Amino acid sequence: MSKALIIGAGGVAGVVIHKCCQNPEVFTEILIASRTVSKCDAYKEKIEKEQGSNPLYGKDVLTKISTARVDADNTEELIELINGFKPDIVINVALPYQDLTIMDACLATGTDYLDTANYEPLDTAKFEYKWQWAYREKFEKAGITAVLGSGFDPGVTGVFSAYAMKHEFDEIHQIDILDANAGDHGYPFATNFNPEINIREVTANGSFFENGKFIETEPISIKRVYDFPEIGEKDMYLLHHEEMESLALNIKGIKKIRFFMTFSERYLTHLRVLENVGMTSIEPIEFEGKQIVPLQFLKAVLPDPASLGPRTKGKTNIGCIFQGIKDGKEKSYYLYNVCDHEECYREVGSQAISYTTGVPAMIGAMMVLKGLWKKPGVYNVEEFDPDPFMEELNRCGLPWKESFAPKLVD
Ligand code: NDP
Repeated sequence: MSKALIIGAGGVAGVVIHKCCQNPEVFTEILIASRTVSKCDAYKEKIEKEQGSNPLYGKDVLTKISTARVDADNTEELIELINGFKPDIVINVALPYQDLTIMDACLATGTDYLDTANYEPLDTAKFEYKWQWAYREKFEKAGITAVLGSGFDPGVTGVFSAYAMKHEFDEIHQIDILDANAGDHGYPFATNFNPEINIREVTANGSFFENGKFIETEPISIKRVYDFPEIGEKDMYLLHHEEMESLALNIKGIKKIRFFMTFSERYLTHLRVLENVGMTSIEPIEFEGKQIVPLQFLKAVLPDPASLGPRTKGKTNIGCIFQGIKDGKEKSYYLYNVCDHEECYREVGSQAISYTTGVPAMIGAMMVLKGLWKKPGVYNVEEFDPDPFMEELNRCGLPWKESFAPKLVD
């Protein structure tokens, strides 16, 4: 018997909404609130149709859905909304820029909090947890829980790491996080989640963790080829990714962490051209008497990620290769999920990138609501017991697979 406030009505929010409503015994009531209320209403209408005809959404108990408009940059508006609805948790699937205002509103109202991406200031593409970790004491004192980064990466990659530590290793020395998307949407260039956030991430300097410190690399300068299970050979590039920062602290004894993501030559060529002509810049420029940010303008002309669902074919494979010691012997272990874009679309009307983010966000909220991940403070997912989350991944559409003899990344 719980109420959840879902903030945002984009691609990831759509999946969270569907998945909450597929678990009506936990999510008795949801309020979908975003800047554009018509997007919230469209989700409500779609699910209410499903609730009448599709047994996935329950039979006797159905989630009650309402919608509202909110500007999540405005803490006062958020407080008013939360006080009116009195949710047990706020699921933040708007943009990373709103993380702190939403956390402030949770503090003011004594409400638990969960998100899928760390806070970024609008004017600096810098991915780090320092702003949100600074809320630890305030959340502890208020007796409320904040779960940071409960998407896939960050999110499931942290849960996989906690699971590997708990069940498979005495010491983990190296983690390679591999994120492959072999999906094809048929456009020459589009991003699978919010284009602004995606391009900020890819054009930033890369980095990896080694022997206690982060080493920066030029953007997209380190390439490897990996033969992914169920997908095949793909080019992948080393990126900085936010979960490396928390894993470096939370996986005791870790010596090296790298993050690789696959990109096609076509995607990188487009990106290089856009970068060379200045379209990926986040510095505001004057245009016809108005200040515009080139990257935000680019976002406006690119396909909306939520519209890629019906066009995308193929699979994703995201997972972690662990190397370390078990019972005095060296061991390697690969945990991964393979997700099919078309199957996701059939189930919830979204492609696999939104699906692989939205399902773990719902599961993280479920963990808090069931009291399994409830402790006052601000935590990354690997700081909780991974077992109930891993069980839910199998039940809720993201089953995981393991290999005890994976091919390693050099
Ligand atoms: P979208 O751009 O599709 O959706 C963002 C939503 O947030 C939109 O509905 C937008 O409203 C709303 N929004 C933006 N600003 C505000 C505001 N000030 N007040 C209220 N609502 C606002 O993004 P995605 O769904 O692709 O991504 C959502 C989040 O998921 C992002 O933070 C992204 O970084 C994260 N993510 C995490 C991943 C992971 O694995 N951990 C992977 C992929 C994404 P409007 O439509 O009106 O503009």
